[in-house]
Amino acid sequence: MNIIDMTIHEMHAALKGRQISSVEAVTSMLQRIESVEPKVGSFITVTSEQALSAAKSADDDIARGVCGQLTGIPLAIKDIFLTEGTRTTCGSRILENFVPPYSASSWEKLHQSGAVLLGKLNQDEFAMGSSNESSAYGTTRNPWDTSCIPGGSSGGSAAAVAAREATATLGTDTGGSIRQPASHCGCVGLKPTYGRVSRYGVIAYASSLDQVGPLTRDVTDSAIMLEAIAGYDPKDSTSVDTPVPDYRSALTHGVKGLRIGLPKEYFISGLDPDVQKAMESAIDTYRRLGAEFVDISLPHTDYAVATYYLIATAEASSNLARYDGVRFGHRAEADGLLDMYTKSRSDGFGTEVKRRIMLGTYALSSGYYDAYYVKAQKVRTLIMNDFIKAFEDVDVMLTPVAPTPAFKIGEKINDPLQMYLSDIFTIPVNLAGTCAMSLPAGFSASGLPIGLQLIGKPFGEETILKAGYSFEQATEWHNRKATI
Ligand code: GLN
Repeated sequence: MNIIDMTIHEMHAALKGRQISSVEAVTSMLQRIESVEPKVGSFITVTSEQALSAAKSADDDIARGVCGQLTGIPLAIKDIFLTEGTRTTCGSRILENFVPPYSASSWEKLHQSGAVLLGKLNQDEFAMGSSNESSAYGTTRNPWDTSCIPGGSSGGSAAAVAAREATATLGTDTGGSIRQPASHCGCVGLKPTYGRVSRYGVIAYASSLDQVGPLTRDVTDSAIMLEAIAGYDPKDSTSVDTPVPDYRSALTHGVKGLRIGLPKEYFISGLDPDVQKAMESAIDTYRRLGAEFVDISLPHTDYAVATYYLIATAEASSNLARYDGVRFGHRAEADGLLDMYTKSRSDGFGTEVKRRIMLGTYALSSGYYDAYYVKAQKVRTLIMNDFIKAFEDVDVMLTPVAPTPAFKIGEKINDPLQMYLSDIFTIPVNLAGTCAMSLPAGFSASGLPIGLQLIGKPFGEETILKAGYSFEQATEWHNRKATI
């Protein structure tokens, strides 16, 4: 089997059995990156030298009999994760030369598990976007059709997996940024429950919504990655101190008798017919496997996008205040302090980021705070309650990830509202704080991947992983490869 096509668990077996070495694996990946990057553009920074030296020490570990699930496995991570000594841009000009003095806890855990870092992946600037077009480092292209967007904001993370430039990757999801690109690029993307994975060292966009998760080739790899990054971190007060289950052993428990809810608000008439077809066939597959379907309602769904764009932009306007040319980021030449702040921020931030800072500042300003921000917080509670109530009757929910397959580059960039609607089915999950995953579930007539979303109860990752695994075993979608 070709090294670049291997899953984590396949590569682990090959490393452990000494059929391949980590240096060979990393070299194959670096060659692959070199050959496809001009077409895809998943990476902002490739760390070839460090990767090769990390691979050598992984091989030494393996020779000494130390071979964990991730020892010697070549991974890449979104450029939103701080990496000590390696430039971290968050897709923004303002952090073009920022080299962090410490690493994000999630990457640190993978590193401690022996994983090798190939580099830092492209993303929408400050994770604001659904297409990767807002990156200051060029648009990543969808490996299935390079005239299309890969999704966003973790577009580089999804494209790198689909183009086989990394065995697995890490992304972040504030309103859909792991699941939507995973859906558009045909990989498995998992957004854990808020609090499941530490956010320490992840550049903040909207702190009450941001969460870290893996993008992988299959569900088993998703379980392996989640297990490695999950858990309490004293450095993140929002990380929750509940034990991390053995996610992998839960995979094979089957879905017989599992109660799957179909929220009626997610099966709307405007749904793309190919997406609709994929959902119907997924429902059939689950019925055959013995799951039961229940019609449910999440009545406040219509308000989710508006609520999200008030809360996320409000939090972003505050989080992004630190990029002032003094504490962080690009500093412009100017006359005096105020002028320096203004110029540094005007030069450093892109259009979408500026739009969001303005929206958020407006929503928080005195006189509008109650009408917008406080109202949005109240509606968020109603949305959360919708989920709590619906989960009294079902174990998981099944929905589309996105209303359409990947769209063309340039198609929505001048219409922010249309762009915002790409996340209509993913945003409510972040507002509710629960977990969800995107799984390959079909292809459009033009050959673009379509994802299925499984939403779980808070800390119900085992259940969605199990349900995802059963679906994967019963279908072939995840075995198709982008021919790039
Ligand atoms: N597309 C959404 C936004 O632009 C979600 C982004 C994300 O999850 N980081 O805010």
